[in-house]
Amino acid sequence: MPLALVVHGGAGAIRPERQDPARAGCSAAALAGWGVLAAGGSALDAVQAAIVALENDPGFNAGTGAVLTADGRAELDAGLMDGQTLQVGAVASVIRMKNPIALARRVLASPHVLLTGTGAEQFALAAGLPLCDPADLVTPAQRERWRNGNGQGGATSIGAPAGSGQLAVATLPGADSHALDDDGDRHGTVGAVAVDGAGRVAAGASTGGIAAKHPGRVGDTPLVGCGFYAEEGLGGVSSTGHGEDFIRLLLARRAAEMLGAGLSAQAAACEAIWLLQRRAGGSGGLIVLDAEGRVGAARNTPAMAYAYVVEGMAEPIAGI
Ligand code: ASP
Repeated sequence: MPLALVVHGGAGAIRPERQDPARAGCSAAALAGWGVLAAGGSALDAVQAAIVALENDPGFNAGTGAVLTADGRAELDAGLMDGQTLQVGAVASVIRMKNPIALARRVLASPHVLLTGTGAEQFALAAGLPLCDPADLVTPAQRERWRNGNGQGGATSIGAPAGSGQLAVATLPGADSHALDDDGDRHGTVGAVAVDGAGRVAAGASTGGIAAKHPGRVGDTPLVGCGFYAEEGLGGVSSTGHGEDFIRLLLARRAAEMLGAGLSAQAAACEAIWLLQRRAGGSGGLIVLDAEGRVGAARNTPAMAYAYVVEGMAEPIAGI
């Protein structure tokens, strides 16, 4: 089975000076995941490795550098799914985890699906994962943004012909009319989807959520079928955008079902974002891999950082 991996670094508005670093961060994450796949590792391990790289990059809204809640804390959500076993692991509202996706992976290997807050952190300790000081997750840039009363917002479409190594970009009609307030910085949630040599597919996502969110607010990112979904025979999906609307529509699962109905990865991505816009007035983007490792991506926000590698490519292709 051809190997394939795609990552996103969030949909929204991306300031011009952030675009090169966002592309570079996505490429580095794609390479981290690709290294796992190329060494014969599983899709699940590759997704985790790619997301850890993005969580560790302070330029993205996940792990270190996440946006802050209304009361000034980084409250993190993450989740991932193994498409072969249908095992899911997710965590929400954790404040002491440097890499929430690593904790979500431990949850996946447990009888649980989703753990929240202090309970999730207790589980981390029991699993031998270290807790960090919540302040360690807060970067000077996010603290400054919070002090200045940060905005929330961002809402415009990407796409990819199967296996060609080229990702075509399209903009859905009327997209900008759905833009949330746009502070030029609303992006940075991260996600990844991979297909390994055994044909297994996995998907995951990680975020600090929406800037200035209500404490305890949980978006789509840690919710299976909303922020991520993977299923053998269909493919995998990872979402980013205004989470409440992805939740209402169970959008990641819907995009996967579109693959099952015969749509290409690219058509499923576009159709899902069109549905998001039409049915919920929502904004965001998603990345898709079909079961054969063909890439699709779409957004109805001004931008979405992404990178992907499929077998035969010498290096990742990244875009905004
Ligand atoms: N989907 C995330 C949430 O609503 C935010 C994002 O993707 O930008 O929490």
